[in-house]
Amino acid sequence: MVKVAVAVPLSRVFDYLPAIRLDAYRAGSRVLVPFGRGQKVGVVVGAGSSDLPLSKLKPVHQLLDDEPVLSEEIVALVEWASGYYHHPVGECFAAALPGLLRKNGSAKPVPPCCYQATEEGTALDTDELSRAPVQLRLLQFLTASAVPVSEAECRLFDPRWSTPMKELIRKGLAEKFWPDYSSLTPVPGFALNSEQQAAADAAKDNLGTFYPVLLYGITGSGKTEVYLDVARQVISRGQQVLLLLPEIGLTLQLLARFRSALACRVEVIHSALNDTERLLAWQAAAAGEAGVVIGTRSAVFTPMPELGLLVIDEEHDGSLKQQDGFRYHARDLALVRARRLKIPIMLGSATPSLESLNNVSRGTLNLHRLTARAGPAIEPQMILVDGRSGAGEQGISQRLLNMMTEVLSRGEQVIVFINRRGYSPVLMCDVCKSIVDCANCDAHMTVHERSARLRCHHCGSERRVPQHCTVCEGQNLVKVGAGTERVDEVLSEKFPDYKVLRIDRDSTSRKGELQRHLQMAASGEAQIIVGTQMLAKGHDFPNVTLVGIMDADRGLFGADFRAIEQMAQLIVQVAGRAGRAAKKGTVLIQTQNTEHPLLQKLLQEGYGEFANHLLSERKAAAWPPFTHVALLRADAQANNVAQSYLRQIVELAGSHPVAQSAGVMVLGPAHAPMERLAGRFRAQLLFVADQRKPLHQLLAWLRPTLEKLPSSRKVRWSIDIDPHDML
Ligand code: ADP
Ligand code: ZN
Repeated sequence: MVKVAVAVPLSRVFDYLPAIRLDAYRAGSRVLVPFGRGQKVGVVVGAGSSDLPLSKLKPVHQLLDDEPVLSEEIVALVEWASGYYHHPVGECFAAALPGLLRKNGSAKPVPPCCYQATEEGTALDTDELSRAPVQLRLLQFLTASAVPVSEAECRLFDPRWSTPMKELIRKGLAEKFWPDYSSLTPVPGFALNSEQQAAADAAKDNLGTFYPVLLYGITGSGKTEVYLDVARQVISRGQQVLLLLPEIGLTLQLLARFRSALACRVEVIHSALNDTERLLAWQAAAAGEAGVVIGTRSAVFTPMPELGLLVIDEEHDGSLKQQDGFRYHARDLALVRARRLKIPIMLGSATPSLESLNNVSRGTLNLHRLTARAGPAIEPQMILVDGRSGAGEQGISQRLLNMMTEVLSRGEQVIVFINRRGYSPVLMCDVCKSIVDCANCDAHMTVHERSARLRCHHCGSERRVPQHCTVCEGQNLVKVGAGTERVDEVLSEKFPDYKVLRIDRDSTSRKGELQRHLQMAASGEAQIIVGTQMLAKGHDFPNVTLVGIMDADRGLFGADFRAIEQMAQLIVQVAGRAGRAAKKGTVLIQTQNTEHPLLQKLLQEGYGEFANHLLSERKAAAWPPFTHVALLRADAQANNVAQSYLRQIVELAGSHPVAQSAGVMVLGPAHAPMERLAGRFRAQLLFVADQRKPLHQLLAWLRPTLEKLPSSRKVRWSIDIDPHDML
């Protein structure tokens, strides 16, 4: 029988009769199979006998792939992940496949082409394209690049690049051609400093073995140069490199650096690609044609037949963990993949996760530190400012305003960081003090002034800003507190001679806007940049010498056990944006808690000491990484339904031997920290175990049991292994 993984929420594979000879159905090939009343695309995972009588089995409708689309290695990885995360195997395979292959589509690979400016294009007077700004920017992008640029780069530069490029070609300003990568010469890198060299050498000496490294290097210490140095060697051996990062906003610079340093085909895989683009990039990787793949989370499943090196940049970042459906952690899966393939894997960060730091102390991860900024940059100075004192404006302290004046007058740039979108987080009646809440969530509505809307940042519901209080008819509704929009407004008024640029999810929601905004910041077109955590990550703004952090406190009192870790990572990452070039930077942190011991520790002793301290707290509290946890979440339309469902599960789980032998503690049910979200009442159970094994034994039994339980149909439920946040 053919064993097929079908994307349905059931923890099992399905048996089908072969329609042609059995050995034609190789693992990793897609098949079209009858399912329920219709048919579905599934992935063959093997062959074997069936528990069902032959008469119950149906034949496969069609074998979709002559050659398996997923390599044996990826099939095994997905099966492993399905077991580890206790997630239905068919859904795991669906997550690993590009969208078009999830359906029964296929696409013919096309050879990748490159673009460059012609002589005429390079010499063009920019005025001649003043009426076609997109073409002009694209042409400038081509002329500024040292090597011809690939389609992937054009797309990252501007998602709407295709038509303007055709115009440029028609006008004879740009040309398209098919590069011969074998004839390109790699651009040599910097001479590595001794720490960089030691890190790179260790990985290079261990090619072909499982060699996991934590590359713990402060921002700007030249981690990327280390990746490149190792990658050069890997590519020269005819092997491939897979680099994962949390967000694609970071990739344009990185892609260009990799391509010129390695002179090979680099593909980018991320969610902003359309289905065809994604499939083509995926196929180039799977065919071994792309030397390097740079991608976000889901790219961890990219088949790469010659994979020789894995790199996870910003390994601490929470967005490497999928937060819904198949809740895998790309870093952790990458580690598994590297171990199975026996290849080196480098986890890079300026603020490593507590998990990785703990693995270093346990001896399962090799540590390499980069302690100095590469090149001329100097470490920034950090200052705590009491946010309560000093008459500021909308939470912006006078001290920050003064420093801004100084820095701006020197022609340098400022980043003001506030991790809250919108105009103000609270709209309150002046008379009865009632606050406008979301009708569906336990949350306040955020005022968005530009669009004159109230929005819930949790469920996305929105409505017009009311004119009066719905409770007491009061006429005066006050906007309390500030988000990015308001800070933008205040700073625009205070500094009329400078351009303020806002970078948050609202201002960059349209395709291509994020890149455009980042370019405006990098080019100096805007001098004051107001933004959310989007700004914290790897972007390079060499002229920024002052960073103000407005709401450092939110992490100190977060509901989540990871809140403090994340706050510290954010502060250090944001601070890393200051003084990237030769100019010394300053970071001004506004807080209501200047005396907070952890904040003090972070500033005085640095992230490493701070993290050690936090690790000892986690150990004392028996939290991860010293224990292993899983969360069973449930929600339902009516109050108490999820709670009583979970109470039933507590009893059920309690009857399992590992719970009785106290191998696993079952805590709860408890309300989710935000009990009502999008109109549903949410509750959760926490499983905590000292050892991973009993936890997995329990869940491996519980998951299929829950699938069969009639009461499971009355709620929406999910299992989250190593949950990243408790919300
Ligand atoms: P990170 O990834 O650690 O933040 P980068 O790799 O982006 O750091 O390096 C920061 C800057 O220092 C870059 O402009 C890079 O070109 C430069 N750089 C890196 N290594 C060296 C080196 N060995 N010598 C001179 N400059 C370097
Ligand atoms: Zn809501």
